[in-house]
Amino acid sequence: MEILPLQTRDQRLRRVRSTIREAAVKAGRCLDEIRLLGASKGQSAAAIRELATLGLRDFGENYTDEAAAKRARLADLEITWHFIGRIQSNKTRDIARHFDWVHSVDRAKIARRLSAQRGDDRPPLNLCLQVNVQAEPSKAGVPPEQLGETAHAIAALPGVRLRGLMAIPRACDDFDAQRRPFARLRQLRDALNEQGLSLDTLSMGMSADMEAAILEGATMVRIGTALFGPRAKAG
Ligand SMILES: *Cc1c(COP(=O)(O)O)cnc(C)c1O
Repeated sequence: MEILPLQTRDQRLRRVRSTIREAAVKAGRCLDEIRLLGASKGQSAAAIRELATLGLRDFGENYTDEAAAKRARLADLEITWHFIGRIQSNKTRDIARHFDWVHSVDRAKIARRLSAQRGDDRPPLNLCLQVNVQAEPSKAGVPPEQLGETAHAIAALPGVRLRGLMAIPRACDDFDAQRRPFARLRQLRDALNEQGLSLDTLSMGMSADMEAAILEGATMVRIGTALFGPRAKAG
């Protein structure tokens, strides 16, 4: 049973869009550089359909089985699907075939599998490398000191296209402290571009820190609860 939302999804979407717009103005950035992605784990296909009808085109899922069930129900819509969850080796074939973007690649081995399994008939799969930007022991992501080697190895693969970097910094309420890891991710991206890569994507910012992320150059924000309301427990 769905808990009645205090705001309609239309209101939520408008509120998120206006937060993004205000942050873009503050940052002196162009609004169309910032793509809004609905993080739809634990949300129903009907909720995604509602947001798609309101004009949202990009959705991110964390679990392949949950995503497959929703894709089947939403096959009539033109949705760009992003995989944003932890990647197990035995799920790469499903991800390579059914998604347009993967944000959570954290080692070259996974990217090699995705590249090999994409299929020659498909455009390259867009990838972001997840970076463990604060070097947290329990967190997924490439350690910053291994980023150069990993990024160059992935950029050479034929079935994927390395687009940029993604991070999930630890939650924190202080605005200036929120900005720091995002600034660090931008610097890492810029350093890779100086080494000959051409990365155009910074996937950073969630419901609680999207403004800080946009001020530091986010090109994709992944928004769950602020768009959909509370989600069912993951699984
Ligand atoms: C769930 C999730 C989000 C969205 O989180 P909210 O705080 O609900 O906006 C963004 N990115 C990833 C990788 C997620 O798993």
